[in-house]
Amino acid sequence: MVELHVVRGDITRFPADAIVNAANSSLLGGGGVDGAIHRAGGPEILADCRRLRASTLPHGLPAGDAVATGAGDLPARWVIHTVGPVYLETEDRSPVLRSAYTRSLAVADELGARTVAFPLISAGVYGWPRADAVHQAVTAVRQARTAVQDVTFVAFSDEVADLLRDELRSGGSAV
Ligand code: ADP
Repeated sequence: MVELHVVRGDITRFPADAIVNAANSSLLGGGGVDGAIHRAGGPEILADCRRLRASTLPHGLPAGDAVATGAGDLPARWVIHTVGPVYLETEDRSPVLRSAYTRSLAVADELGARTVAFPLISAGVYGWPRADAVHQAVTAVRQARTAVQDVTFVAFSDEVADLLRDELRSGGSAV
């Protein structure tokens, strides 16, 4: 069983084996947590991303998938880049959102990472309602088959930290 934790803070400062980036498909940088990770981690991360684009991912990373790079100057050892879906009221994209978490944990397993930190994927620019983003995140991680021992959700606001703590207390995992 994965142990789940919530902290309020900046994921770029979090000392997990791997931190997860809510990237976009281009892997070439963006705003939000993506911009913060590249700013804090330095140019090595972008250089790794460019190498991935030039080799295995010529069309970019599809939503729901994940890939790892080094972590440059960050306290983590790896950055796992994943792409959440853009929120749409007219289509249920929650399986893709949960896949962003489970694929990230699968990549963590391939790396041998035992501690992983996640931001709340899709809950910024991609517009996912925060309470449901929290529900999907916790459900996906609870249901994952993984050797990762410790997952920390790093909330960037008090509101998200409270939602996450409530969700963890509720203990349910129905989607
Ligand atoms: P997306 O495009 O997947 O919506 P965003 O980066 O816009 O990604 O937002 C994802 C979540 O990450 C949001 O909840 C946002 O508040 C949060 N966030 C932004 N910067 C940081 C940071 N430095 N550490 C942790 N979370 C962050």
